[in-house]
Amino acid sequence: MSSNTDFILAVEDLTVSFDGFKAVDSLNLYIDKQELRVIIGPNGAGKTTVLDLICGRTKATTGSIKFKNQELTKMAEHQIVRSGVGRKFQTPSIYDNLTVFENLEISFPRGRGVFSALAFRRTGDVIDRIHQVAEEIFLSEHLDQEAGLLSHGQKQWLEIGMLLMQDPELLMLDEPVAGMSTRERDQTAELLKRIAQNRSILIIEHDMEFVKKIAHKVTVLHLGKVLAEGTMDEVQNNEKVVEVYLGH
Ligand code: ADP
Ligand code: MG
Repeated sequence: MSSNTDFILAVEDLTVSFDGFKAVDSLNLYIDKQELRVIIGPNGAGKTTVLDLICGRTKATTGSIKFKNQELTKMAEHQIVRSGVGRKFQTPSIYDNLTVFENLEISFPRGRGVFSALAFRRTGDVIDRIHQVAEEIFLSEHLDQEAGLLSHGQKQWLEIGMLLMQDPELLMLDEPVAGMSTRERDQTAELLKRIAQNRSILIIEHDMEFVKKIAHKVTVLHLGKVLAEGTMDEVQNNEKVVEVYLGH
């Protein structure tokens, strides 16, 4: 386990117990560079907890999480962010009273906190990056709009954009299309496939139509363990998966 790997993320024998209940149970998970991986599974399977463990919000009971061969289980949340892991939560955490531009601006790694970031001179490279990201997240026309006035889907994209400002090598998203319209879902699929071209992405998602659009490899989690792993076709035709998840 001390050996180096080519995987961007290598999770080995990861376990977390909450009062004796193993929400994640001896989990192994390997993500390649530039891979887009989808995790599916029934409610309570431990999906969100896996992301909590990777981003350092929850501490592992045992096991190892290596990101670019760095052990994350020993690092604090902010160190993990700085090492290149971005995490999007289910509810967008954007600043409603700031414009789209300002939300992106404060997410640029040079600024720490809202006030220091706004006081920071708007240098050319920051502005270029904001425009580039705004284009990627379909919000170029909305840069001067207050974020609170965006649609639900646009708020989700803005939060993805705020993560992209930090240029993470691994981006993790928890149910990013929940509550989105069909058109917004299609656009999000397009967005994620595009941004996966130069980073690794780990997505938890329930919407199987959406998963089909984006998935290369799918991991099915059940009772904190990997129940199955493979292409969408393989997973959909797996008897155990149909029994515990897709059959319902
Ligand atoms: P999923 O995202 O797959 O629906 P979660 O990872 O949220 O599942 O939860 C997995 C299990 O762990 C659930 O039974 C949940 O109640 C439990 N759990 C998650 N976080 C905690 C916690 N901080 N303390 C106690 N139990 C937790
Ligand atoms: Mg969850």
